[in-house]
Amino acid sequence: MDKIEHDPLAWIDDELASLDRAGLRRQLAERHSPQTATVTLDGRQLVNFGSNDYLGLANDPRLAAAARAAIEKEGWGSGASPLVSGRSSSHAELERRLARFEGTEAALVFPSGFAANAGIIPALADEPDAIFGDAKNHASLIDGCRLSRAVRFVYPHTDCDALEQMLRDAAGFRRRLIVTDTLFSMDGDFAPLNRLAELAETYDAMLMVDEAHATGIFGPNGRGVVEHLSGSVPFFDSTASIADSREPKKGTDPLAPPSERHHRVPIRVGTLSKALGTAGGFVCGSRALIDWLANRARTYVFSTAQPAATSAAALAALDIIQQEPHRRRDLLERAANLRLQLAAAGWNTARSESQIIPIRLGDPHRTMHLAAKLRQAGYFVPGIRPPSVPDGESLLRISLCYHHTPDMIESLLSILR
Ligand code: PMP
Repeated sequence: MDKIEHDPLAWIDDELASLDRAGLRRQLAERHSPQTATVTLDGRQLVNFGSNDYLGLANDPRLAAAARAAIEKEGWGSGASPLVSGRSSSHAELERRLARFEGTEAALVFPSGFAANAGIIPALADEPDAIFGDAKNHASLIDGCRLSRAVRFVYPHTDCDALEQMLRDAAGFRRRLIVTDTLFSMDGDFAPLNRLAELAETYDAMLMVDEAHATGIFGPNGRGVVEHLSGSVPFFDSTASIADSREPKKGTDPLAPPSERHHRVPIRVGTLSKALGTAGGFVCGSRALIDWLANRARTYVFSTAQPAATSAAALAALDIIQQEPHRRRDLLERAANLRLQLAAAGWNTARSESQIIPIRLGDPHRTMHLAAKLRQAGYFVPGIRPPSVPDGESLLRISLCYHHTPDMIESLLSILR
């Protein structure tokens, strides 16, 4: 009898064909240049509105020099997870420095922002607990919730009334955890942090925020949206300057908040891979929180530490954020202007309040068609389709970065007009 040809992966061809038909199939691109205001993708040089290198640091020679020096001193690979022998002096220094930057007692560095979220959430909430997440949270927060055995509630985007109802109904759970992006990665809008902090207090919930797109950009010191929105409600003492000292001072440290445990946003995640131009994720909070996560976050415990050189580059990036605040100021000023001009030209920029400026089109085919036309004209503006956004919300995502010149922005606008 002839052997029937057995291909257990044949279903993948069918699935890919159906992605094609729906206009949802993605293709990998190859970058042939550094990330700067222009980028060479698949052999073509384009003006680059498609990176998260918001402050233009990914290709900054100071970061490369710091990385090279660390390679000389500490070698390249980390060789082990942090708890075994992978945590180098550069990692330890970066953790101390991030804690001082955020004004917290301690910080922990993960191999990526995705790993931070995927590891932290299951370490904070388990079977007898409940997690409440915004419907537009980033995939890494969603996957962290899925990995936890807690009961999950999803509230409509930024809808605190709906969240409050859910919290009321969930009084019987052992612990409650509210999780949100602070600056949403596709719509460029903010989470209602003051209201979320109030709800967390009222309903005895933990509040965890992801500042991935906001670190280095928002707030007088670039700490993120928590600092930016603290306004009249003191989340912490935002008048304190970022100390440059690499070692925490013994005794009286003006930056060490006395009541970190009672911070209104006690769990703050960020990434080193966007405005900081490097790679890796981090979490800042109380000493106890960080000790717990170092023991229980599985993506920390069971994953090799990032190369020491990456931490060294992140330290250089923190220096630049502190010394060159004009980068974030200029960026936000230009972003506000671009949003105004796009709206005046009739484009729907959703509720963007930031350097992430969506042009909401809805239909994935139309979105990709427009992205292709812009590309023909020499502009890289990625089209974003489901599953990165909900059905019906496909968009062009303009990421404005510090290194875009007024000419680049103006010529993009004139094409869109
Ligand atoms: N959180 C948010 C909101 C993000 O947008 C991203 C990356 N797109 C991450 C976390 C993951 O960070 P990383 O790229 O460092 O893994």
